[in-house]
Amino acid sequence: MNEGHHLTDELAVAHAAGLLDEPLVLLVETHLAMSDEARARHRSLEAVGGALLDEIEPEAVGADVRDRVLAMLDVPPAIRIDAAAARCGKAVVPGPLARHIGSSFDGLKWRALGPVSEIRLLPQAEGYVTRLLKIKPGASVPGHTHEGLEATLVLQGSFSDHTGVFRRGDVAIAEGDLDHTPVAGEHEACICLAVTDAPLRLTGGFTRFLNPFVRI
Ligand code: ZN
Repeated sequence: MNEGHHLTDELAVAHAAGLLDEPLVLLVETHLAMSDEARARHRSLEAVGGALLDEIEPEAVGADVRDRVLAMLDVPPAIRIDAAAARCGKAVVPGPLARHIGSSFDGLKWRALGPVSEIRLLPQAEGYVTRLLKIKPGASVPGHTHEGLEATLVLQGSFSDHTGVFRRGDVAIAEGDLDHTPVAGEHEACICLAVTDAPLRLTGGFTRFLNPFVRI
């Protein structure tokens, strides 16, 4: 699991380079909108990337390629969203996500899967499941491992697993054989934006009743 409950360097650098697919861009930019600290950290990573490019021998990379990359780094996405982020990051539904679902979690059409409800987003993004998950207070998501990446951003309330407690604005990155059973905090439903690029694999009992949760 990622340290400090923020983006992994790998995700942050890929975002800065424009290499992420739309579901992960939505998650990263919503996270950045919610946290001054995350934006500051993102900028410092971009600076590191720029410094590394400066050390490249001129003959190693064609000047035109190098100039294009440097131009891209001159206007990093984190800077571009900075101005609006201070306003929209504090909103119930942070700006980048509000463009998809509106400004409130109330009145949305949740699909109930037992203690967990979901709303699917970005259905056209092939190879991904992008969804809002709402876990009832104190309820748990079925225990599972992952066959790919699972990136989860907490939007309301909190959840915990054996790796720690994740609160509003935190990102949980789970991959591969991490076997976990996320449990929502007791006092409030936990709402998350979750992006997966492969099916989850249930590790508890009653799996055939829970298939809708893991289907990709
Ligand atoms: Zn998971």
